[in-house]
Amino acid sequence: MDLIINNEDEMLALGSEIASLLEADDVVYLTGELGVGKTTLVRGIARARGYNGRVTSPTFTLMNIYEADPPLYHFDFYRLETGDTYDLGLEDYLEKQGISLIEWPTLTDRSLPAEALLIAITLRYDDYDLARSVQITARGAKYEKKLEGLMKLVHSGHR
Ligand code: ADP
Ligand code: MG
Repeated sequence: MDLIINNEDEMLALGSEIASLLEADDVVYLTGELGVGKTTLVRGIARARGYNGRVTSPTFTLMNIYEADPPLYHFDFYRLETGDTYDLGLEDYLEKQGISLIEWPTLTDRSLPAEALLIAITLRYDDYDLARSVQITARGAKYEKKLEGLMKLVHSGHR
């Protein structure tokens, strides 16, 4: 599914639509360059799941936990690019009954779950203040169903 997201509010609204389909054990990968809007989307998801605290990129801590039901595990592997060794207990979190939201998933050499919702965000113009393209794809039957549900939600045009 390809969407045009014109501003931050629309990104937050997309987050709440995605949030309505997520459940314990789900994994979402977010890709796109720095400043493209990955964390903004995560913030939209977290708000919609009832978390009202700060949602910022865990670039230096690698991970934030947001208390919600189920809890949200927000990872950001950007810093791994600098070659830092990494011992987060990632696998342990992925086995817990939370929802994992992972920025820069390709920067860990740990093996991550193959099945997930993939969200790729790009700038539409050479301008960080303007619209984004958001491409959402699914890997695995469970996520294909969720993506179908998301398409229906988005196309019902309730926002
Ligand atoms: P990332 O996590 O990908 O590094 P952030 O979500 O932290 O990016 O930052 C995105 C920034 O871009 C925010 O300051 C947001 O307000 C701004 N922005 C401007 N236009 C948009 C848009 N169309 N969609 C999302 N964010 C936007
Ligand atoms: Mg970020």
